[in-house]
Amino acid sequence: MSQSVKTQTLTDQLIEKDTRYGALNYAPLPVVLEKGQGVYVWDVEGKKYFDMLSAYSALNQGHCHPRIVAAAKRQIDRLTLTSRAFHNDIMGDLLEKISALTGFEKVLLMNSGAEGVETAIKAMRRWGYTEKGIPKDQAEIIVCEENFHGRTTTIVSFSTDPLSYEGFGPGTPGFRIIPYDDPDALERAITPQTCGFLVEPIQGEAGVRVPGPEYMARVRDICTRNKVLLCADEIQTGLGRTGRMLCYEHSGIRPDIVILGKALSGGLYPISAIACDDSIMKVFEPGNHGSTYGGNPLASAIGVEALSVIVEERLAERAIDNGLYFLEKLRSLRHPAIKEIRGKGLLLAIEFTEPLAKVFCKKLKEEGLLAKDTHDVTVRFAPPLIITQDQIDEAISSIEAAISQLP
Ligand SMILES: *Cc1c(COP(=O)(O)O)cnc(C)c1O
Repeated sequence: MSQSVKTQTLTDQLIEKDTRYGALNYAPLPVVLEKGQGVYVWDVEGKKYFDMLSAYSALNQGHCHPRIVAAAKRQIDRLTLTSRAFHNDIMGDLLEKISALTGFEKVLLMNSGAEGVETAIKAMRRWGYTEKGIPKDQAEIIVCEENFHGRTTTIVSFSTDPLSYEGFGPGTPGFRIIPYDDPDALERAITPQTCGFLVEPIQGEAGVRVPGPEYMARVRDICTRNKVLLCADEIQTGLGRTGRMLCYEHSGIRPDIVILGKALSGGLYPISAIACDDSIMKVFEPGNHGSTYGGNPLASAIGVEALSVIVEERLAERAIDNGLYFLEKLRSLRHPAIKEIRGKGLLLAIEFTEPLAKVFCKKLKEEGLLAKDTHDVTVRFAPPLIITQDQIDEAISSIEAAISQLP
């Protein structure tokens, strides 16, 4: 008596469990990973892949960087959490390091990127009331179309992507949305109630939208003239990704507030921060903001090592050279549906003229390369910054093979 039971792979079983018990707020590629090292990850069937997403740039230092892992292991046996009701002996090292890297006097540590953004919003609003004299509850923050700043109810209330905000209202008031890469629109949108302008130096989630070369300098000037705080969300573009420690350094400007996250931990643990001068940070007083895990000893030990790796392995410099090399190779790819290939450093993207991004990512996966589509037409290539030119050559062969299979 033969039974025709279709054999389920381990991958199928694991995906089924996620699907049965988990919220379906993501639609991941059907690959189940169990190991990572450097630029590579392995799935449960033993297949090896290039990671070309780097967890949206959280893994600039590569998977399981031995130095960061060792620092975490050392700290985990000593002390992991104190809460901010007490001092711990290592948070100051991370504050000092972020201050030195960004050139800002003060740093406030949080956990997820979205919490960092929320912290910046609170700082800008409170500064608006105490320093600019904006009447109570009238402060406005200007943001850009197609922004991505996270998923809290306040942050999605100024998203322009219906997938992000639809059905989650009522939204938080006090935000005004203008087109990206349009300094004149910023000038026009500013009112006496405007306390801040929140902007990504490159819009990553929007599909690696790189603004014109003068954009950040122009918005810096407009904000200064109007006494509006310029807040750069560098959660994705920061910490070496675009070939500078911070992406705004390409424009030779200094914002008033910078938000960091993602690679601040090298992929080990959620750590975010805002950095600014004391004239802004002083709006926070005992009791008016905080987080149980923010600045905890484990996070601090990981953050210190994660930043040391970026500096000592010269990851920003490597992102320039290897980014140019990768970009050139991508630009040599030929397919009638390729519309544009763009990016800065190792934050690169292919845009198609048709919605081919998802099917392209599936082909890439078969060829041993994991990448993520955005907005149906764009695929981002953002490998760990430790990638070598030989590895780029290897990745390009896979990309070429996947391209040739596109309709
Ligand atoms: C990822 C991201 C965030 C949100 O970070 P989470 O850790 O996912 O909350 C905010 N801004 C930008 C630009 C990001 O890329």
